[in-house]
Amino acid sequence: FRNYIDGFPKESDMYISTENTIRLKLPQGSNGVLVKNLVLSCDPFMRLLMQKNDDSGLFGCYTPDSPITGYGVAKILDSGNPKFQKGDLVWGMTGFEEYSIITETESLYKIEHTDVPLSYYTGILGMPGITACAGFYEVSTPKKGETVFVSAASGAVGQLVGQLAKLMGCYVVGSAGSKEKVDLLKNKFGFDDAFNYKEEHDLTAALKRYFPEGIDIYFENVGGKMLDAAILNMRIHGRIAVCGLISQYNLAEPEGVKNLMPLIYKRITMKGFSAFDYLAHYSKFYDILLPLIREGKIVYIEDVAEGLEKTPAALVGLFSGRNIGKQVVVVSRE
Ligand code: NDP
Repeated sequence: FRNYIDGFPKESDMYISTENTIRLKLPQGSNGVLVKNLVLSCDPFMRLLMQKNDDSGLFGCYTPDSPITGYGVAKILDSGNPKFQKGDLVWGMTGFEEYSIITETESLYKIEHTDVPLSYYTGILGMPGITACAGFYEVSTPKKGETVFVSAASGAVGQLVGQLAKLMGCYVVGSAGSKEKVDLLKNKFGFDDAFNYKEEHDLTAALKRYFPEGIDIYFENVGGKMLDAAILNMRIHGRIAVCGLISQYNLAEPEGVKNLMPLIYKRITMKGFSAFDYLAHYSKFYDILLPLIREGKIVYIEDVAEGLEKTPAALVGLFSGRNIGKQVVVVSRE
């Protein structure tokens, strides 16, 4: 990580260092682990850690001239912690480097099920999957037959939310930023309908077209104008699960939400949530997801960048919609 930023992240905000990346020895007496990183995850929250005053309270911002950190899948090479043995596969917070020493092992989880792709532990079985399950089942309180709108619907979180909603018997529409993504939503993920928000000059009218009777659940990933339009289309007792506001992360002055009156007269619940409150309970969501994956009832699309050096482009690409599906970086295949 080069230095703190304002505005949109650029590839040049990160650089590749070839010094000191291989530290094969765990310090004497350490209760941490030495890992080889296999797959790394590019997630929108990482942008928030690139600004000096990150107020999310999640991890603390990045340190200039140190590796960026984020979620990943890794293999334990050496362990000073009885919870982990050499050879274990884990997912959790790690460094964007070939090898890392991880001292905060409470955010590392052992991988027990290896009959699914390991990269899934950065996506459907990792933080984004837990986000989708928590946000849909627990925050949105869905019922069969309800109408569900998902924004950024082809991404790591959105593609799963839409499929879970379909499996529950909901009517589901998603928005995404290209024709290719809209086709995926309709033809691969089984959404009832989908639209390209970049081609709609009036988002309120677009949502009215897809939800003539209104929206029961809005799974909010983007914020800004989409949130304003969705509020105007909510039904009485509708729920808005505020997962993310990616359209706002790079703005010096976030856009205000104007249309708040319907929250009152339609008794709408708008609730923010954080995956970090649910991570430790991941096994509850695995009981739902693993059978669905194994039986082919859920599909999960990944956008795979090969090589650690592809990270800057992959991470920056989240903010222009370059990724199609969950963005991962494969560092090593073994
Ligand atoms: P995605 O895989 O969906 O990647 C981000 C996508 O956001 C892009 O592909 C792009 O898709 C869309 N996007 C980017 N900029 C804009 C913009 N200005 N307006 C509208 N859409 C935009 O990311 P995730 O699925 O990982 O994350 C989705 C959301 O969920 C994010 O807001 C993220 O911060 C949030 N999140 C929240 C968590 C929580 O604990 N609350 C945990 C994990 C994620 P397109 O081409 O369709 O525009």
